[in-house]
Amino acid sequence: MKIIVDRSACTGLGICESLAPNCFEVDDAGDLILLTETVSEEDLEGVRQAIEGCPTEALRLES
Ligand code: SF4
Repeated sequence: MKIIVDRSACTGLGICESLAPNCFEVDDAGDLILLTETVSEEDLEGVRQAIEGCPTEALRLES
């Protein structure tokens, strides 16, 4: 599974980072950095929570 970010929707608040720190990081400028494009089995639950928790619905998974 691959993480897709809609950068025009992302506001950089970092909820995804707190829910799936292995996959997301928000830098000092408020830009979202994907730490991995492909989600491991181990990180999948956290990424799913991040997708649900993102207030702007900027994240999705693609197989
Ligand atoms: S939770 Fe959503 S809006 Fe916030 S940084 Fe992550 S992708 Fe961007």
